[in-house]
Amino acid sequence: MSSHFKAEYIWIDGAVPTAKLRSKTKIVEKGQTPPIWGFDGSSTNQAAGHQSDCVLKPVFTCPDPIRGGDDLLVLCEVLLPDMTPHPSNTRAPLVEVANKYASHEMWFGIEQEYTFFEGIRPLGWPDNGFPAPQFGYYCGVGADEVFGRGIVEDHMDACLMAGLKIAGINAEVMPAQWEFQVGPLGPVEVSDQLWMMRWLLYRIAEDQGVSATLSPKPVKGDWNGAGAHTNFSTKAMRESYAACEKAAQSLGEEHALHIANYGTGIEERLTGKHETCSFKEYKYGVSDRGASVRIPWQVAVDKKGYIEDRRPCANIDPYVVTRLITNTVCSRL
Ligand code: ADP
Ligand code: MN
Ligand code: MN
Ligand code: MN
Repeated sequence: MSSHFKAEYIWIDGAVPTAKLRSKTKIVEKGQTPPIWGFDGSSTNQAAGHQSDCVLKPVFTCPDPIRGGDDLLVLCEVLLPDMTPHPSNTRAPLVEVANKYASHEMWFGIEQEYTFFEGIRPLGWPDNGFPAPQFGYYCGVGADEVFGRGIVEDHMDACLMAGLKIAGINAEVMPAQWEFQVGPLGPVEVSDQLWMMRWLLYRIAEDQGVSATLSPKPVKGDWNGAGAHTNFSTKAMRESYAACEKAAQSLGEEHALHIANYGTGIEERLTGKHETCSFKEYKYGVSDRGASVRIPWQVAVDKKGYIEDRRPCANIDPYVVTRLITNTVCSRL
């Protein structure tokens, strides 16, 4: 019997324009909760070399499904040495907004699309040229259409073992592109869990020599981009259709602000083709996959439910996106 366990401290770095995940391991005595820790911020674009210490504050912990046993994954916020939030820390401002509007009981479900790469090519793509044009890949089956399912299954199992609320998976329109869904959960919870699920995906694919990219347009040309459709509801929306429409209208009033924060490279993905609406316009509609915001068919029938913001890119920071949606929608109620 070991008297210790391994705690994998996971945090979000200061990489520009898109932050990345980092992690390192701390051996902790059994019975103790993982304490505050630190790291060298000069190696993560979070500090200058002469004053390099940054603080890791554990905020969300779950079982480590990779190491197993008593080992833990520990998601952290990055703080400055005076214990105030680091400028790269987008979770702290989300917590403030989530608390301010807690009475509206916001739920989010995020569809995370991503693409497997082996070296410089999408997994399973030919050495020369391209696979057959997009058609049979979405929710496909068979070795000629589906690449990387083993990793996808292992990732789904790992999320369940960790107690994370993964809602499902599917193969996407472009070969080697996949999606998992997380939620519905509150804004802070869904974002914490999405970052954890991303870390697990990278970690599991790493063992197979495969990388997963969140690039919103991983292959130029006539290939689908990768998004992070963000479904959400307030308590009122779950009870009334008028509240769903009101939320869609509110989002339109802040279109430019949202586009500016929905992932670097959004102009390449939201072209008006490939099931998107151009980033230059805002429209919402029932069942419309060419709209910025879609009201699902079932919601129009039930006259209540949730709406889907289709604009966010795969590479979003969910702390930023859930904060903006919560603020834009709830401040107008
Ligand atoms: P799509 O048809 O766009 O592919 P998905 O089934 O992939 O939709 O994802 C739908 C998401 O919506 C799921 O993550 C689910 O958890 C979420 N969701 C369902 N109901 C609600 C709700 N009332 N509020 C917020 N999110 C919801
Ligand atoms: Mn989906
Ligand atoms: Mn999808
Ligand atoms: Mn969707």
